[in-house]
Amino acid sequence: MIDPQEKGELLKKIPKTDKILEKLPKDIPHILKRTVCRRVFEDLRKKIKLGLLASPEVLAFENVLSLVMDELSKSLRPSLRPLINATGVVVHTNLGRSLLPEEVFKQIFEVAVNYSNLEYDLEAGRRGSRYSHVEPLLCELTGAESALVVNNNAAAVLLTLETLARGKEVIVSRGELVEIGGSFRIPDVMARSGAILREVGATNRTHLRDYENAIGENTALLMKVHQSNFAVVGFTSKVPMSELKALGAKYQLPVIEDLGSGNLVDLTPYGFMHEPTVQESLEAGADLVSFSGDKMLGGPQAGIIVGKAELVDKIKKNPMNRAVRIDKLTLAGLEAILSIYRKPEEALRKIPTLTMLSMSYEETKKRAQRLAMRLKRKKIQGVDVAFTDTVSRVGGGAMPLQELRSRAVLLNLDGLSAKGVDAACVERALRLGDPPVIARIEDERILFDVRTVRDKELGLLASCVKDAVEKCIRGSIR
Ligand SMILES: *Cc1c(COP(=O)(O)O)cnc(C)c1O
Repeated sequence: MIDPQEKGELLKKIPKTDKILEKLPKDIPHILKRTVCRRVFEDLRKKIKLGLLASPEVLAFENVLSLVMDELSKSLRPSLRPLINATGVVVHTNLGRSLLPEEVFKQIFEVAVNYSNLEYDLEAGRRGSRYSHVEPLLCELTGAESALVVNNNAAAVLLTLETLARGKEVIVSRGELVEIGGSFRIPDVMARSGAILREVGATNRTHLRDYENAIGENTALLMKVHQSNFAVVGFTSKVPMSELKALGAKYQLPVIEDLGSGNLVDLTPYGFMHEPTVQESLEAGADLVSFSGDKMLGGPQAGIIVGKAELVDKIKKNPMNRAVRIDKLTLAGLEAILSIYRKPEEALRKIPTLTMLSMSYEETKKRAQRLAMRLKRKKIQGVDVAFTDTVSRVGGGAMPLQELRSRAVLLNLDGLSAKGVDAACVERALRLGDPPVIARIEDERILFDVRTVRDKELGLLASCVKDAVEKCIRGSIR
């Protein structure tokens, strides 16, 4: 415990604001410099009062100056910025889901800095439709009659239900009433759309007769929802789309499916369990299918609706459509991504999400070796570099049971325990670094799953590790 007198002495040691301000770059607005100084000084005073100051040296002029400079650069840099994802979760919703190929970004850039024919029909010389840029492509790729794109898949589901089932019943299996995180729950979305949820079956088993018994005067739709982020195993039974389609035909009810992630390519050749692609769902009879643009499709955030023209037209005319419409930059990106899918082999090679998902264990092993080599070259004191097998995840609420065997680089920090440095400190320092690195901790070791780290990032990642460890040794990370 530090006594009050000692605390008083420490408080007096804090350098004078004016002296610090003199040393700061001239071209930064004075008001910002003052605000930042005040913030740093308040933090120091608080630490002194609580007895949390690492050592009196922290108060040395040069140290305080560098604390203020750090804070200043933090205030000046963008809040939303790139980072290195070493978690091995490919479609990581918190880390921006899918990365765009550069050629896709070029297309977005061109549309962003120039006027475009967004809603202009060049042939006719008059107003056109923004959907015309991706609709033919989506129909070509999925075999659908018609297509519509909106802001995201949540909007696609909401809009579809509002258009086709407001005030009416929608029959859904109890086992498919998912919550996908970020407060998107099928029953809640249904309620907001004005549609009435009619749950059928039990959590683990739903039969065709359950759907049939629930059909009545007020039924508008039969709906299937992809279970996304969970799986029911054991004694289970689901009604396949083809049977639901036959039932829908008997009662003249459309059958719709929220596919969630929605793949256009079959990934079973890469060791994936089978998931119906968008094409398969349509072939099996779905009248409408909706899916995300930025999950396994690997494009920008968007919601895609494909299916029967008669139904898609109704959705297009819904005034709510305007409220969830896709913006031109997304549209440019989506068109570019979809064009790549014309050649599925190219899609796997060019679209980062698919490249990472289809990366073999052997390839991850080689990449892990390259990372380890770069780390060793940094000669970071007290840090031992090793390897371990790990399991990457698809993420984005897709394929929760799919295990992707992967190789990770491990940092063993036992050599730093005498200096009071542990894995939690290094993990935090990595997270607060520039660029931030998001890693996992397992058994007091830092783990980098290289599946989601690109080769071009390996050198940078090694430098970030060196910085982070040094910060922890210096005690400038709390
Ligand atoms: C992810 C998901 C959604 C929401 O999609 P967003 O594009 O994130 O809005 C809806 N339904 C299912 C089944 C999902 O997996």
